Amino acid sequence: MNPILVALDVDSAAKAIALADTLRGAVGGYKIGKQLFTAAGPAVVHELTSRGDRVFLDLKFHDIPNTVAGAVQSAVATGAWMVNVHASGGSAMMKAAAEAATTAAAALGRPRPLVIGVTVLTSMTDAALAEVGVARPVLEQVVHLARLAKQSGLDGVVASPQETAAIRAACGPDFQIVTPGIRPADQQGKDDQARTLTPAEAMKAGSTYLVIGRPITGAPDPREAAKQIFASL
Ligand code: C5P
Repeated sequence: MNPILVALDVDSAAKAIALADTLRGAVGGYKIGKQLFTAAGPAVVHELTSRGDRVFLDLKFHDIPNTVAGAVQSAVATGAWMVNVHASGGSAMMKAAAEAATTAAAALGRPRPLVIGVTVLTSMTDAALAEVGVARPVLEQVVHLARLAKQSGLDGVVASPQETAAIRAACGPDFQIVTPGIRPADQQGKDDQARTLTPAEAMKAGSTYLVIGRPITGAPDPREAAKQIFASL
């Protein structure tokens, strides 16, 4: 399948749907995050999923297990294909999320969404982890949380390109690794993303899915940009 998930980082449903209509067939799915979801709500997710699109609902749930289970249940009702939770919420929370996905999907007669963990936000440094009481360096903490996510029944994790190979080695071939921070070779170092890999490098390092925003959405011809990235894989 096409591993490209396009980040719909826009502020209205109309813009998101226009982008999705432009890109449909040239990409593998869309990521809806907190900006669009807070502006447009579950209706925009439903709007896309009812057209057959795969939607990664990137809301990074992090709460007590019962509340996260309820949030996952509501996510299933939108038709989301992938949802995520913070792995630092712990094994009980992750197990509740995974179970809620299974139960809600069965009850609604929908396919079960993939439930993915967020390990350590890529904005965090070793010093920032120490500040919140985590003594391990970032990469060790990422691998630790990826293993915990797997043991808790999650399907995979979101990871930076630098972390992908270590997670793949620790968690095996069937674990899903979703990787943002992707830049085509001619766009490295052009914006706020540091330590990027090209799409082909990220796939080689073991990514399952690539989250790509501006290199596609900011291109003069987004569909052509998406096609070129897919061809480069
Ligand atoms: O435009 P760009 O390709 O940088 O978009 C990447 C998307 O992935 C954005 O939605 C960004 O918030 C998200 N993301 C990221 N790095 C992370 C986690 C998510 O860039 N570690």
